[in-house]
Amino acid sequence: MDSIALPINLIILGSTGSIGTQTLDIARQHPDKIRITGLAAGSNADLLAKQVIEFDPDVVALADSAAADRLASMVSCRVLRGPEGVLEVAAHAPGDCVVTAMVGAAGLMPTIAAIEQGRRIALANKETMVVAGDLINMLTRKHAVDVLPVDSEHSAIYQSLVGEPRESIRKLILTASGGPFRNRPLDTFLNITPEEALAHPNWEMGPKITIDSATMMNKGLEVIEARWLFDIPPERIEVTIHPQSIIHSMVEFADGSSKAQLGPPDMKVPIQYALSAPDRWNSDFPVLDWSRAHELTFDQPDPARYPCLELAFEALRLGDGAGTVLNAANEVAVGLFLDRRITFGEIPRLIEGALHSIASHDATTLESRVQLDAEARRWVHDSVR
Ligand code: NDP
Repeated sequence: MDSIALPINLIILGSTGSIGTQTLDIARQHPDKIRITGLAAGSNADLLAKQVIEFDPDVVALADSAAADRLASMVSCRVLRGPEGVLEVAAHAPGDCVVTAMVGAAGLMPTIAAIEQGRRIALANKETMVVAGDLINMLTRKHAVDVLPVDSEHSAIYQSLVGEPRESIRKLILTASGGPFRNRPLDTFLNITPEEALAHPNWEMGPKITIDSATMMNKGLEVIEARWLFDIPPERIEVTIHPQSIIHSMVEFADGSSKAQLGPPDMKVPIQYALSAPDRWNSDFPVLDWSRAHELTFDQPDPARYPCLELAFEALRLGDGAGTVLNAANEVAVGLFLDRRITFGEIPRLIEGALHSIASHDATTLESRVQLDAEARRWVHDSVR
């Protein structure tokens, strides 16, 4: 893989979220290396207006048209409206690289639009790979596009694989913090509130991924993401609970040697690497203090505590469109839990129901995946009426 010529013309989809704002922090640190050309978000017109004033992009978009109208009255740059506007930014803003930091399956089409223009993808939106990793791989090969992972686990694996022949990979081991309920008695899971689930011990993230971390669906989605990003069969992907979140993931090789990437939990490291790779830029990010003792512990995930992880492996076994159903059912279930309409324990039950009730085999085209996504969302909504 070649490095991108500097300065990088950078487009950020989801610029107002956790990953988006941290990407802009990096741009602020490296004005000689990054020029922001396009920004897009959902509805947060006030924050996007501030970003426009600071970073002076060529074009911006909000998926919510009314919010886009408000934004247009606050800034002088070109403002686009609706999901089509977001697509337009991904495809037509001048850009060498697109950071896909939107949340959910809404990230799929803009990511495809960016790939079709031959831009490097710094992939945060793991849902894209869960819904259509097989199809995305075909497209990235066709358009000779590099996909660099932003997820810290996949970045760790990517970094561990630099210089290694593919045939030498024995397995990938994803680390998981275990989330806030690692030690909570199972018989109290029914009482878990959104506030408790939103309090992650190690990472500050948007609400959807924080709930996914509490259920461990986040790790399940990451297993599916790893399956497609690294083109590795699911039986060679493992998960280990590592509560300290210092080892971000590892690769075991044919000779029995393992390589890992380590650091304090800080998303800016993998975000920056997705932009700079294969080079490394200077930073003032926190580093590990090797002069003091660190505890690094590992444990097996308990299937009774984390049924969502098993469901993700099941979706991989089912293949075709099962990932689409899993993802859509999860997105709706998480929304219902945050709205206090279902309990924490109902999240995996609804996903399992959708996975077993909706026929997903033969959904091998993009159009069929989009239909399946809508069907799974309807199924979950109908199940809780
Ligand atoms: P946030 O909820 O913090 O941010 C989501 C962003 O997406 C916001 O900018 C939001 O805009 C925007 N958005 C929502 N809907 C749309 C839409 N329809 N069109 C355009 N933009 C939209 O999420 P995170 O930053 O935490 O996560 C983003 C992605 O990155 C997820 O896929 C997540 O799994 C992944 N990820 C996140 C990590 C983290 O540490 N946060 C780590 C690894 C991966 P608005 O603010 O206007 O609603």
